[in-house]
Amino acid sequence: MQGLMMQQPLLVASLLTHAERHHGEQEIVSRRVEGDIHRYRYRDFAQRARRMANALAGLGIEPGERVGTLAWNGYRHMELYFAVSGSGSVLHTLNPRLHVDQLAYIIEHAEDRVVFFDLTFLPLIESVAPRVRSPKVFVAMTDRAHMPRDHGLSATLLCYEDIVDGHSDAFDWPLLDENSASSLCYTSGTTGNPKGVLYSHRSTLLHTYAAALPDSLNCSARDVILPVVPMFHVNAWGLPYIACMVGAKLVFPGPALDGKSLHELIENEQVTLSAGVPTVWQGLLAHVDAITGSFSSMKRTIIGGAPCPTAMTTAFQARYGIDVVHAWGMTELSPVGTICSFKAHQVSLPVVERYALQAKQGRPVFGMDMKIVDLEGEALPWDGAATGDLLVRGHWVTREYFGSDDAPPLRDGWFPTGDVARIDPDGFMQITDRSKDVIKSGGEWISSTDIENIAYLHPEVTTAVCIAARHPKWDERPLLLIVKKPGSALVPNELLTFFDGRLAKWWKPDAVVFVDSVPLGATGKVLKNRLRDQFGDYYLSA
Ligand code: AMP
Repeated sequence: MQGLMMQQPLLVASLLTHAERHHGEQEIVSRRVEGDIHRYRYRDFAQRARRMANALAGLGIEPGERVGTLAWNGYRHMELYFAVSGSGSVLHTLNPRLHVDQLAYIIEHAEDRVVFFDLTFLPLIESVAPRVRSPKVFVAMTDRAHMPRDHGLSATLLCYEDIVDGHSDAFDWPLLDENSASSLCYTSGTTGNPKGVLYSHRSTLLHTYAAALPDSLNCSARDVILPVVPMFHVNAWGLPYIACMVGAKLVFPGPALDGKSLHELIENEQVTLSAGVPTVWQGLLAHVDAITGSFSSMKRTIIGGAPCPTAMTTAFQARYGIDVVHAWGMTELSPVGTICSFKAHQVSLPVVERYALQAKQGRPVFGMDMKIVDLEGEALPWDGAATGDLLVRGHWVTREYFGSDDAPPLRDGWFPTGDVARIDPDGFMQITDRSKDVIKSGGEWISSTDIENIAYLHPEVTTAVCIAARHPKWDERPLLLIVKKPGSALVPNELLTFFDGRLAKWWKPDAVVFVDSVPLGATGKVLKNRLRDQFGDYYLSA
């Protein structure tokens, strides 16, 4: 039809082009794995990303092919975010906290052509490499002076700075289809093997617009943003893209996520906004409390990935004058789903009521639709009382998992989150439980099924059930409930030692409780919610 608007594809590279043109002088500061602080400007970042785009072409990476990264939050990782997606291939961020078997599975499943890694992860790469057929090329994200002299890799090992230096910065970002894939992140927040969530350029851009809004993460050109949430965890909640869109200064913490290092960085760089899981903030608060310190620039912190306890909200707001923004999201949602931002009539509520409100996960940002349903799939009222399965749909919600043979997850066009929630008349959602059978510890998933499967290998175990038990530091930790073979003299420590070497150390249950039986439902399935009711506070009372 005549007189309509232009059709310009929504592309990740356009964020970089915008940042370079309009915020070229803005800074990106990174704590490096080499130990020092690196700083440069958006203009340098854009130029190096173009060099890297040429380098990727030189490595023979074709559009649509996956490029893995195993890296902390830092400027080189940021360059890869844009060089890889911008040139039409797919940025696959790998989670270094996974067990080496899972990493190998994910790299194989995604068919990564090349994997870039921070030096910290060389031992991990050395363990993974012999277990995967591709990639044949690894790139250490460092300079020549820091390249490892001895390593156990038989594949080609390249040096990041060499390949950046060796390529021209003249590169025209291709005009891609906005529905083509830009990045890929696997989640272990489902049963079975980790599943890939494939983001498109379009979904990423729409998510960036929505997440930057004042009632979302509230980002502007005056902000100094410290993404503590890892760039391997749902694109650091979109902050690398948002920072480019609004022209904010970016501060990357590298591997130093302890309270002291974070506080130093926040103060030295005058950070105004940060984002991460509650466990990280606990460390920061403990440090600042201990030194009776303060925050001279921080205005708000986005807390999500796990419920934000009211004690944490109070500590930040009442003690340090930093606003807490509680948020809920998922890898499958890019990740932003709901944000707990006050409506006008809530601002003047008594402080206790406001704190109670902030314990809720919040209301959907525009572009995200949600409902709660009963067991028959019927929508439940938003009365703040009825609880049901939380379903969502929207521009940046996954439709299916990447390369999965399983049935697509959608129910009548809605994505089942695996969370159980209630919604109040103001549209504020509060998570009350989880129907998915996984444990979230310090913001990362642990598979209860994997733990149970290992326990079953022990000859004296009849029944093994692993549940998420609340934990004062990690939010949740696995608790293993065991029915022993009759007459068995098995003791908890013996069973716990049995896990050593069989799974990632931090996946090992903290305790074993022997029980006579476990409750079963009509279909013979273990009623884990009953066990959670009974043992859910085990670590709180221990
Ligand atoms: P992930 O895909 O690893 O980001 O995990 C998403 C899941 O983490 C959600 O489905 C929830 O179970 C949990 N989660 C995320 N944010 C929150 C929050 N603010 N409160 C409670 N649970 C959360």
